[in-house]
Amino acid sequence: MPRKISILGATGSIGQNTIDLIRRAPDAYDVVALTGASNIAQLATDAKALNAEVAVTAREDLLDDLRDALSGSGIEAAAGAEAITEAASRPADWTMSAIIGAAGLAPGLAALRQGGTLALANKESLVCAGALIMGEAERHGATILPVDSEHSAVFQALVGEDMAAVERVIITASGGAFRDWPLEDLHNATLDQASNHPNWDMGQRITIDSASMFNKAMEVIETREFFGVSPEAIEVLVHPQSMIHALVGFCDGGLMAHVGPPDMRHAIGYALHHPQRAPLPVERLDLTKIGRFDFTAPDDARWPALRLAREVMAAGGLMGAVFNAAKEVALDGFIAGQLRFTQMAEIVEEVLDARASDASLGRGSDDMTLDLVGKADHLARKAAKAAILK
Ligand code: NDP
Ligand code: MG
Repeated sequence: MPRKISILGATGSIGQNTIDLIRRAPDAYDVVALTGASNIAQLATDAKALNAEVAVTAREDLLDDLRDALSGSGIEAAAGAEAITEAASRPADWTMSAIIGAAGLAPGLAALRQGGTLALANKESLVCAGALIMGEAERHGATILPVDSEHSAVFQALVGEDMAAVERVIITASGGAFRDWPLEDLHNATLDQASNHPNWDMGQRITIDSASMFNKAMEVIETREFFGVSPEAIEVLVHPQSMIHALVGFCDGGLMAHVGPPDMRHAIGYALHHPQRAPLPVERLDLTKIGRFDFTAPDDARWPALRLAREVMAAGGLMGAVFNAAKEVALDGFIAGQLRFTQMAEIVEEVLDARASDASLGRGSDDMTLDLVGKADHLARKAAKAAILK
């Protein structure tokens, strides 16, 4: 029987890598929903090639274009955030959650309420609403598998292990585009320079977040939420080769490292075939050619985002949603040329400091709801926009 699958964020970098794997074994899958936003041509092409049941764009203004592109195919077309969530709630055995940003939260929740498997690339879901996501997965008997390469690596290192024996979890960071830049040059970094990752080929937003380390800051929170380890047990190491994605340290002093090429199809494929392993079209590493793996401690002055993540975890409650929303707006500001590279962290810190005194954001995880997360997100976006215009 083919497995029913849906891909949320199908037109993006993770979505396209997922489709690359699916297309190699078309008979194994029955595609339910594909979703995208602006890239209607790609969405329609893939929906037709995979014979999807429904294709949805986030952009209501592009519904007619999508209908035109799908005409005669018999594939249903829909548009808007609610339509994406509706499509995500159609029964599927496996759903890829690869929308970018907080927009991925509601559709991801809808998918896991079906009780299937959610392959989670959308780290923002866990940063904004980790307790909600993990709680709903448990309530509905859904499985969440990590797709972020570091978290897939940790997950793989933990197979057969007892969490009580885990002392520390180390996730690595390439250091992004500006790892070796003189500190004083960072504020002049351009959008083009920040959009060029030394090792990974990813969407533009996460590439810039890698240069600023906001991506790693989010991943530290993601590690805490996904694996339930304490913030003190989570470490970040700069590892320029991007081949050791994470290491897990056990109570006997041993470290289990996961080594693989910087190719997201490894983590996506692992989640797709779990609990089996299947051959994947990724490079086989020749360690004699690589020769060495380097590690250094991250520099807080270069990457203040890592310190901010620690503050967010200490505050708990809805501060993750505030952090993510402020970061998204600051990133928009940098992309639009309103902010310098180094000002992104300043804006996020300003919003965090202002919101820290708001008692309603400090609520415990038990009463976290989509509405409360949405409210925190909304307030933080407003505050971040105001801070940018100041
Ligand atoms: P991209 O920007 O490449 O793709 C984002 C996807 O989301 C596209 O399908 C896009 O549609 C869609 N989208 C954009 N805005 C909205 C919206 N408001 N509502 C619904 N859909 C929307 O992102 P990536 O693939 O790089 O990243 C996706 C997720 O995976 C992120 O959470 C990221 O952090 C995570 N991730 C990515 C990695 C990577 O290698 N790229 C590695 C690890 C994690 P369209 O393109 O049609 O506009
Ligand atoms: Mg990652």
